[in-house]
Amino acid sequence: MKIALIAHDKKKIEMVNFMIAYEPIFKKHELFSTGTTGTKIMEQTNLKIQRFMSGPLGGDQQIGAMIAENELDLIIFFRDPLTAQPHEPDVSALLRLCDVYSIPLATNVATAEILVRALEKGDFAWRDVIHKYKNK
Ligand code: PGA
Repeated sequence: MKIALIAHDKKKIEMVNFMIAYEPIFKKHELFSTGTTGTKIMEQTNLKIQRFMSGPLGGDQQIGAMIAENELDLIIFFRDPLTAQPHEPDVSALLRLCDVYSIPLATNVATAEILVRALEKGDFAWRDVIHKYKNK
């Protein structure tokens, strides 16, 4: 599956710890991230991640473009709900596109845990069906 990872600055340590905890699962998938989030994860794990631009510089929109193409299967986005973000419109647009395309989205670690365990169990197989018909 193709998985996007994004964490606002105050959530980056939480994201790195989450990725360390589930590294054996994540290493079986194709990972994408915004710039700084990806760098921090790769510094602390052996995961390979395709990094886009930093979120405030357009990275959220680049991930949004993949969602609009129905290319991503899971978004893990640890948002900071207590700090104003300069790129709030980009954040809202990304979340909106997840709903437009029914893409599984976790915005906090509790939901992310449940989705990653579901991923490991094979509960994301329906995404393969989407890809199969999309490419016809
Ligand atoms: P970053 O972007 O990973 O480059 O910090 C995340 C964001 O703030 O959207």
